[in-house]
Amino acid sequence: MEPVVVVRYSEIGLKGKNRGYFEKKLIDNIRKIVKPPEVNKRYGRIIIRLKGMSFEEIKERLRYVFGIHSFSYAYATSHDLDEIKEAVKELLTLSLKDEKTFKVQTKRSYKQFPLTSHELSAYIGAFVLEKFKNLKVDVHNPEITVGIELKEKEAFIFVGKERLYGGFPVGVSGKAILLLSGGIDSPVAGWYMLKRGLKIETLSFLSPPFTSEKSAKKVLDLASILAKYSPEPIKANIVSFTEVQQYIKKNAPDKYSLILQRRSMMRIANKLSRKRHAKALITGENIAQVASQTLSNLASIEDASNVPVLRPLIGFEKIDIVEKAKEIGTYEISILPYIDSCVAFAPKNPATNSSVEILRDLESGLKELHDLEEKAYREIKSYTLGRDL
Ligand code: ATP
Ligand code: MG
Repeated sequence: MEPVVVVRYSEIGLKGKNRGYFEKKLIDNIRKIVKPPEVNKRYGRIIIRLKGMSFEEIKERLRYVFGIHSFSYAYATSHDLDEIKEAVKELLTLSLKDEKTFKVQTKRSYKQFPLTSHELSAYIGAFVLEKFKNLKVDVHNPEITVGIELKEKEAFIFVGKERLYGGFPVGVSGKAILLLSGGIDSPVAGWYMLKRGLKIETLSFLSPPFTSEKSAKKVLDLASILAKYSPEPIKANIVSFTEVQQYIKKNAPDKYSLILQRRSMMRIANKLSRKRHAKALITGENIAQVASQTLSNLASIEDASNVPVLRPLIGFEKIDIVEKAKEIGTYEISILPYIDSCVAFAPKNPATNSSVEILRDLESGLKELHDLEEKAYREIKSYTLGRDL
């Protein structure tokens, strides 16, 4: 018998004729992120052969692969009953703590096997009862489940399943530009969109010299965390936004300056998305959280974008966003005191109500805005961030 990891995917199983493409992408991403000695598709599962690599190491890396529903440490055996029993005994010995109840669940896709699923479950159940005197059968609510999957050429034996995030393999849904501030929300927004299979590039607006090198490092560190979930390195782009901001601050009513800045960000992000063939922008916006996030202001900001603006956190509670940020490791970086651009140029009383007409009208009087945006765009600095686990 051979130690393997059985990987299960759920949503991608539903995808009709795209299924083959998703499976291929998932295997490809496992190869790049987990770097296992051998991984193959077998009978609707993905099987990683350990071949000397430690299970702990594989497990730690699998967390970063979106598109996986659950996985189990398992033994691949022949159809020989003694070998199956041996595998069950070893796995239970490894995993038992103080559980008192168990059941055996058999899935038999190899129909030529001499016993039915029920018969094999009963047979192995009797064996477990004999070897582990403290265990009792509970078919409805067992503390531990022994799984047996009988396939054509081999059987997979495992105890329990570990859940992962699910979602889709990164890369199957196209590409988007994440507007990544130094705040708590936007890194989490990026994480959720990676989970839906989007490839991302980040774009951050800073205001040197009002923001320091530490602010740049902060957004790059945040992007590096997201890069762990990506099979390919992530590009992180930094815009020096100071001149645009100063120009708006000086030439437009204070209360609209924040929305005007946001519209400039949208236009610069659109330029980048055209160049990089990205089909959408992603923000960490959330309805009603701050002044710029009323419905009318969101509409005024979105008006400046030609591509859809995805806002995965739109209806989240702040407390849940914070919890997710802690879980994925961005929180500790986000709360560092180094500001991104907006804080440095925030108006005292930003308008909570705006209209597209007013903003377009204001912009038509800002004659240099277009050139300043173009200059900021041309001077974007790009960094490539790999996955260093
Ligand atoms: P965050 O915690 O992500 O900063 P927030 O709740 O503070 O979000 P805002 O500051 O209003 O909200 O920003 C809304 C969104 O606009 C951000 O989530 C981000 O996507 C984008 N954004 C704001 N400022 C910047 C910036 N300096 N660089 C890049 N994107 C930004
Ligand atoms: Mg912010």
